Amino acid sequence: MAKSKFEYVKQFETEDRLLPNCWIVVRIDGKGFHRFSEQHNYIKPNDDRALDLMSKAAETVMEEFKDIVLGYGQSDEYSFVFKKSTNVYNRRASKLATNVVSLFASSFVYFWPRYFGTQMMQYPPAFDSRTVIYPTDKNLRDYLSWRQADCHINNLYNTCFWKLIQEKGLTPAQSQERLKGTMSSDKNELLYKEFEINYNNLSALHRKGTIIIRTPKQDQENGDLDILKLQLTPSGSSTARGGLSSRSPRPMTGGARRVGDVSAIL
Ligand code: ATP
Ligand code: ATP
Ligand code: MG
Ligand code: MG
Ligand code: MG
Ligand code: MG
Repeated sequence: MAKSKFEYVKQFETEDRLLPNCWIVVRIDGKGFHRFSEQHNYIKPNDDRALDLMSKAAETVMEEFKDIVLGYGQSDEYSFVFKKSTNVYNRRASKLATNVVSLFASSFVYFWPRYFGTQMMQYPPAFDSRTVIYPTDKNLRDYLSWRQADCHINNLYNTCFWKLIQEKGLTPAQSQERLKGTMSSDKNELLYKEFEINYNNLSALHRKGTIIIRTPKQDQENGDLDILKLQLTPSGSSTARGGLSSRSPRPMTGGARRVGDVSAIL
């Protein structure tokens, strides 16, 4: 095709190809979901309909992008790990971030009625997206441990915060004041002494988030399960049993498998 005299403007575009041979993580996060969750009557501190909808949207993304080996989600965020060798969109950061987040957002809206029934969406939600590369397996494990530690810290705080409001009648400001300066051990004790709750017995999905992995084909014994050897702990430390594989896992057959507790996949 003959070049037009306008063609030169293409050169203004910047190169954003990500370094080869590194794990690529795309993380999306809901924009202003503090407000969105209030306006849509999310059950506090954890609305399972919303968590399930987030995971449904994440599964849709993983059905489309076969090079994603693992998804990790909590609250209004999801991280997607692309295999090291992926060449999708020529590893262009903006293409990866935008295609993942737009499919995620449209799926969130598309599947909304399945999880929220007749409750209408009040306004269109938005999500942000970023692309980060991790050169070593340790960096990737630590990234996932970091997100899971964040989930744990927030969930412990939110569980206390909402218990004080819902069961002791405190205002949000009073509840915040009551929790100011408390350590994790103080919060655990508060839950135990005032509400007879053993935090560790609460739902693993709420305490640790959701991991989505590909299941190997049922009829193949030697499915590539190396990726399942990721070990995450809510404390933020991590250990690995065996190495992470950069090989492609088997394609999803019956869709992705979801687990709340990472220990369940080890
Ligand atoms: P930003 O645009 O900067 O991300 P944000 O309001 O989305 O702002 P986040 O730090 O992302 O802030 O926090 C998301 C908030 O959404 C949580 O603090 C919580 O209030 C709410 N939220 C998300 N998912 C759920 C859920 N499943 N159940 C209850 N509340 C939720
Ligand atoms: P890519 O994912 O690389 O963008 P693509 O299939 O979207 O692939 P484009 O070059 O973006 O390819 O072209 C969009 C195509 O969508 C057009 O070639 C046309 O076939 C179709 N299309 C888009 N808008 C319309 C429209 N309003 N009416 C008819 N066809 C349309
Ligand atoms: Mg944010
Ligand atoms: Mg957010
Ligand atoms: Mg968030
Ligand atoms: Mg197009």
